[in-house]
Amino acid sequence: MKTPSRHQQPSHSETQPGTVWLIGAGPGDPELLTLKALRIISQADIVLYDSLISDDILAMLPKRCVRLHTGKRCGAHSMGQPDINKALHTAAQKYRCVVRLKGGDPFLFGHGGEELEYLQQRHIPVQIIPGITAALGCAAAAHIPLTHRQYGNALMLHSGHSQYGDFAASHSPTRVFYMGLRQAGQITGHLLNEGITEDTPVALIVNGTLPDQRVLKGVLMDLPHLAQRCLHDSKGPGLIIVGEVAAMAQVNAGMNGDIDSLEGLIANAASSAVA
Ligand code: SAH
Repeated sequence: MKTPSRHQQPSHSETQPGTVWLIGAGPGDPELLTLKALRIISQADIVLYDSLISDDILAMLPKRCVRLHTGKRCGAHSMGQPDINKALHTAAQKYRCVVRLKGGDPFLFGHGGEELEYLQQRHIPVQIIPGITAALGCAAAAHIPLTHRQYGNALMLHSGHSQYGDFAASHSPTRVFYMGLRQAGQITGHLLNEGITEDTPVALIVNGTLPDQRVLKGVLMDLPHLAQRCLHDSKGPGLIIVGEVAAMAQVNAGMNGDIDSLEGLIANAASSAVA
């Protein structure tokens, strides 16, 4: 059967909003785009992109898709953040596949979090595709092993942009612990000694991005208990995130066992509709 052309389909304002994909395009080399980013980009109806997106990556967009350059290089802001948020919202009411394409990773110094919150508050479905952030891409390109174990056990990603000339890390930076589930008790004790409060949000992610991804959240005092649960229930690598942003974590599989992702839900619904 021939698929109807876009013009024959009802507009989204009459049905439901499209999905906004917040996509990281990586540090520049188009070959560092992920396969998933490429798959979604090639279906885009409209793309809102920032100044870090190279012409090589723009050349991968479908010819028919609408392109909107949102700018944002120092001194040359073409759209302010409130206008970008509004444009994403409007685009989702008109188009099925809305791509917000950002350099590096959408959640690292790229206002992706603000866009996510704005759209979620307006009930627009949002999906995130991570990208290789500049710190990782550029370090690799220059052969710098950022966590070479002879030289350090922590990595700080810092914004060098400050309106007030203050470059100190914020009082409570987000902390991400790799390889920490088995030592969650000691980590908790260490953080409490450092003055991090008991009610600081934490999130634990096991098998992240995989079909059996599990996300638990709570507060710092719960961390040892949550880590025990992860170790007991799941096999696989785990990460601990400590800081206010952990409260934004979307808890999925594991709490009730079978909800892996929105995509999984839709795929299930589609297959039972056919059956
Ligand atoms: N979301 C992006 C960062 C946006 S802030 C990410 O995850 O990488 C923009 C800053 O990222 C630039 O000012 C520069 O400091 C850095 N950056 C991004 N791409 C870069 C590249 N290819 N080479 C060097 N620095 C880069």
